[in-house]
Order: sequence, then C-alpha cells, then structure tokens
Amino acid sequence: MNQFARSGAKLAQLLKTLGIDNEQVLDAISDIPRHIFVEQILAHKAYENTALPIGQGQTISQPYTVAKMTQMLVEHGVTTNVLEVGTGSGYQASILGKLFDKVYSIERIRALQFTAKKRLQMLDIYNIQMKHGDGWNGWASKAPFDAIIVTAAPSSVPEQLKLQLADGGILVLPVGTEEQTLVSIVRNGDEFIEKRWESVKFVPLVAGDTL
Ligand code: SAH
Repeated sequence: MNQFARSGAKLAQLLKTLGIDNEQVLDAISDIPRHIFVEQILAHKAYENTALPIGQGQTISQPYTVAKMTQMLVEHGVTTNVLEVGTGSGYQASILGKLFDKVYSIERIRALQFTAKKRLQMLDIYNIQMKHGDGWNGWASKAPFDAIIVTAAPSSVPEQLKLQLADGGILVLPVGTEEQTLVSIVRNGDEFIEKRWESVKFVPLVAGDTL
C-alpha cells in the first residue's frame, strides 16, 4: 500500500465534519488523489484542508472551497456540462469530471495547462476538454453551459459568463479584490438571480493577456 492510500477518504471525512454533506461530492473527493496535483515536495500536505502553491504564483484552492463550490453546482441539478475558468493544477476539473458528463476548462498560463493535461491523462480521465486562453469571456463555441465555475476572482462578474449560461444554469464565482465573496447567479430567461455567500480568498482573474 502506498503512503497515500485512503488519504482521499480521510479528506472527505474531514470535509463532512465541516458541513459538506453531498455524498457524490464526498465520493469524488475521496476518489481523486490530490497529491498528484501538487509538487512532490508538498505531497505530504495534499490531504490537509489547505491551499497550496502550484507554481507561477498560483494556488490549488483549499479542499473545503473546492467541495463547497462543487456542491453548489451539483445540487443545482443539471450535470450535462460545466465550464471551469482557471484550470490551475487540474484538481477542481478532475473532481468535476466525476460529477458532470462533460467538462470544459480554460487556463491562461500555458505551462500550468500543459501539466494539468498530463495529470488527467495519467489518471485516465477523458471527459475534460482543456484550452489555453483568457477565460474572462468564457468559451462561446461550447456554450450554453448548465454550470460555470470560476476559480480566480474578478473584480466584477464578467458579462459573457452570465450570457453563456443555459436557461436555468448556475454560475459560481468569487468576486472582489482585497475582500472577496462567493457569489452564485442563476439564469432564468433574461433574468439573473444573484446570491452572496461566504468570504473567500482566491488569486485574481486576470483579463486580457495570456502567458
Ligand atoms: N482550479 C484550480 C485553481 C487554480 S488558481 C485548481 O484546481 O488547481 C486560479 C487559476 O486561474 C490560475 O492557474 C490562473 O492562472 C488562472 N487564471 C487567472 N486568470 C485567468 C483567465 N482570465 N483565464 C483563464 N485562467 C485564468
């Protein structure tokens, strides 16, 4: 048995004590080996409830936040397709891959996107399509989406992301600069119903250029 056997299950157990109660989400957390998504030197911290650096000044989010946002998307109901903006390590995308039929994920830093892609191949996950580019304007050719998750914080909600939601679809994202709040937006025809949740801390969503 390797050093990380059953670590995912222990992390899922910990998240349950913190209020994550969706069994499908907990199963996905339990199944995905998070240590694969961080540098080897940090692997021993991969099953703690902490954000970790993934290079290029970016971070893999805290597992509680990944689980919370995923739970909001899944419990909204329709799980045909989902767009993630900010692939980073690929961890959140792989969790979504367990829960949605098809995942689309965009990353602005090519080196991160490249490594994320290799990890997903290694784990035999094939329902995730990735793209290098600026996700501020979403991924129009694949829209509409049942769900959109943004894992970096814009100062205000990008309009195109709202417009790429399917009718009834849900967008979950952190919004703000210094102070950030988790926000959900549900589309009902031409209406967008916005709710604000807890305080969160994400790296900024960068508009315009790619690396
Ligand atoms: N979901 C990731 C966490 C990534 S951190 C994971 O599970 O590891 C946020 C990521 O968003 C960073 O990799 C950053 O490069 C990326 N990002 C920032 N602005 C972006 C933009 N406009 N388009 C796409 N990706 C962006």
